[in-house]
Amino acid sequence: MKSIYNFSAGPAILHPSVVKATSDATIEFQDTGMGLMEMSHRSQPVVDMVSETDNLVRKLLKLPDSYKVLFLQGGASLQFCMVPMNLLGKGQVADYTNTGTWSQKAINEAMIYGKVNVISSSKDSNYNYIPKELNQSDNSQYLHLTSNNTIFGTQWNSFPTPASKESYLVADMSSDIFSREFDIRDFGLIYAGAQKNIGPAGVTLVIIRESILQSVTRDIPTMMQYQTHINKESMFNTPPVMSIYAVNQSLHWLDSIGGVSNMEVNNKRKAKKLYDEIERNSLFNCPVHEDDRSIMNVPFVFNDELDEANFLDYCADRGLYTLKGHRSVGGFRASIYNAMPEEGVDALIDAMQDYEKKF
Ligand SMILES: *Cc1c(COP(=O)(O)O)cnc(C)c1O
Repeated sequence: MKSIYNFSAGPAILHPSVVKATSDATIEFQDTGMGLMEMSHRSQPVVDMVSETDNLVRKLLKLPDSYKVLFLQGGASLQFCMVPMNLLGKGQVADYTNTGTWSQKAINEAMIYGKVNVISSSKDSNYNYIPKELNQSDNSQYLHLTSNNTIFGTQWNSFPTPASKESYLVADMSSDIFSREFDIRDFGLIYAGAQKNIGPAGVTLVIIRESILQSVTRDIPTMMQYQTHINKESMFNTPPVMSIYAVNQSLHWLDSIGGVSNMEVNNKRKAKKLYDEIERNSLFNCPVHEDDRSIMNVPFVFNDELDEANFLDYCADRGLYTLKGHRSVGGFRASIYNAMPEEGVDALIDAMQDYEKKF
């Protein structure tokens, strides 16, 4: 197989051991004579695998028993509406921070179900910082934030505290879950589409403190109720077993190399190297405020009007793929998720330095 580094923002790079194990399981899963795609989700090997994945999530994130782990479908995008449907009653208020495209989508959905108070926004400067002054309501049900803004390359380095004691944080952690440590007790609910940092598309991880589900009385379709999936341990309907298995293997790999705390050290080292080079290199700069830079998605642009396609081709010739920036930022974006080895970042830095020498 051709050896390249994939800097895609999502679906994104997975550790080779995950790709290999998933590909082997497609042919035969655990000496059953069947491939995993062909097996009943009610069969013991599959039930055990899903339950083991649940345990790995608990272990790696140090979850207390009061939190449930769910493997759902519909992506993070379905959570944009499932969250308010279950947690925001008609006439009730929820506080939302607006730090980018995904935050805005979450806000739009919540407005269907209750009152949304947008307590901060960085829209005025194309979302290149995290606005930390929050105009919180004193009666909000929860405070929603996007922990890492995949498109704009900003990240909450520390999380705000909700104004009211009964309130709690809800976070879209699609692009930074398992990349760094955090205290789950501040959060009522976390959701993350798997395809950024822990697996392929098709499964969404939801972590929920069960006690927050009491407050809303509206009629909700069975499939849209968190309680349904809690009661049936993510097996109310047929779960995306292949995707869950890839998550299982990603988490095994993460566990084997020292868990989230060790990964955080690696991620910070990788990101610092790359930001340092962007600062040093006379051709590039990073549009994001220094304090709010993401350790997962690193956007950078040319200082002068150089030919972006030429740099992308130059990188591709060296095996550095999918570095084109999102259209709303332009320039380049290197996504350096958990599975991106430090050698990949080093190779990108070399390419940036050699390109600088050409000019
Ligand atoms: C990719 C992404 C989404 C959208 O995820 P889907 O699984 O495609 O719905 C939402 N939020 C964030 C932060 C993302 O990075």
